[in-house]
Amino acid sequence: MIMLRVLRRKLHAIDYYSARRERSLWTRLRDAALPVTLLATLPIVALMNLVLQRPIAGEMHHGTIWRDLDHAHTAIFDDFADERPSHLPRSTESPAPDERGISAGQFRLYARHAERGWPLTTSRVDLPIDGEVELYRERGRTRWRMLDDENGARRAIIAALSEKRAPQDLVQAHQVESHVTVYPLRWLGNAMIWWALLYLGAAIALVCLHFAVTRIQRRVALRARRLRRSGRCPNCAYDLRGLEFSDRCPECGDLSW
Ligand SMILES: [Zn+2]
Repeated sequence: MIMLRVLRRKLHAIDYYSARRERSLWTRLRDAALPVTLLATLPIVALMNLVLQRPIAGEMHHGTIWRDLDHAHTAIFDDFADERPSHLPRSTESPAPDERGISAGQFRLYARHAERGWPLTTSRVDLPIDGEVELYRERGRTRWRMLDDENGARRAIIAALSEKRAPQDLVQAHQVESHVTVYPLRWLGNAMIWWALLYLGAAIALVCLHFAVTRIQRRVALRARRLRRSGRCPNCAYDLRGLEFSDRCPECGDLSW
């Protein structure tokens, strides 16, 4: 009985010390999570900027292509119809021959944009202008970028864009290549948000893990204590009754007492 009491006190001491050590391990892990999650933020923000692209379809803009008596083309966007040069026909009926020229076709263009990043938009991509041109003499629609560089309709549209006789979003969009605008402050903002999220996630995961580990340890300790009390090896449950004087279990070699 005395031995058992000593043993129990010893076990208690072991429990106490291991618990102390465990607690400091978990706090150390939580402390380490702070710089580790900070290091992970920038690659994650960069990855989000790379992977998460939300397209924003630009507004479709319509217009008419006019051909005057000298066969020179002029592209007029509907929004800018009032600024139509006086030498062009007044009528927008198509095709509407006029003493000053003819409407040669219609076109529609739109500027496409995309936003990147999460949760804040870290960059904006202006994609090349896209659209179609329908020239009456050619029948059917043609992608405007497939038109020959020397094509009068294409040159007229490009002239309208470069002379800013076109809606603002089309003027701003690059005609051939994508253009990326980066927002450095929002990168910083996203890094802070991701750091907070990651650290919170890590802290919750550590608390859950700590809880699970403690439960398992307690169950193992309880089982060992129960086995010891019934005179069995706490490791392999081998019956140690009558073997009180050997310090090791003959079955598994574990320290039996
Ligand atoms: Zn054993």
